[in-house]
Amino acid sequence: MRNISAFLIFGAPGSGKGTVGAKLAATTGVKHLSTGDIFRGLSPASENGKLFASYAGAGKLVPDEVTIQIFSRYIGGLIDTNKFDPAKDSFLLDGIPRTVAQANLIKSVVEIKHIFVLDIPDYSVIVERLLKRAKIENRKDDADESVIRARLKEYEDKTAAVLGAYDSSLITKINGSQSPDEVFRDTLSAYITQRKLPL
Ligand code: ADP
Repeated sequence: MRNISAFLIFGAPGSGKGTVGAKLAATTGVKHLSTGDIFRGLSPASENGKLFASYAGAGKLVPDEVTIQIFSRYIGGLIDTNKFDPAKDSFLLDGIPRTVAQANLIKSVVEIKHIFVLDIPDYSVIVERLLKRAKIENRKDDADESVIRARLKEYEDKTAAVLGAYDSSLITKINGSQSPDEVFRDTLSAYITQRKLPL
């Protein structure tokens, strides 16, 4: 049964998924769900919290089975507490699926309506952004350039291929090197087109 409808915000670490995701959610009512935020919200003393810290600290992806288990439980909680109504709400997924295996694991329950890809071909822009974010958000995985490079490698090795699992008609590329306002404008415009809303 595919009862959950979702849009996907996709791109390399530091491409601006969280920033544009929050704005799109505030403007349109889609429910922004970031797996990075969910993981960072785990208790550091819990088994999953420790597991997350060991992988994220090394710039690695959390294993698929654990990721999907945490994600499913989180969504189940939102549905059970009336924070998400599958009959009328949609998610804006940020950070999942991040591997082809994750795309396959969620596809029986999540129907992807459209994918907005934040494209930044120049990785030096990304590294600079993440080092700056490290100072603002105190994220350890942003503070060390070798960890950032490891995350970009994970993205290239495992995540980029996810797009191939979806029909190209579902994908809109957005120039992620632009200013946050311009990225938001282009993403909102693509969203309106996809939802067939009047401009
Ligand atoms: P960024 O996109 O900047 O790397 P995120 O906040 O999305 O940051 O993710 C932070 C970390 O959380 C990742 O490096 C990874 O360890 C873990 N993570 C988030 N989402 C997933 C996922 N779907 N599968 C595996 N690991 C994930």
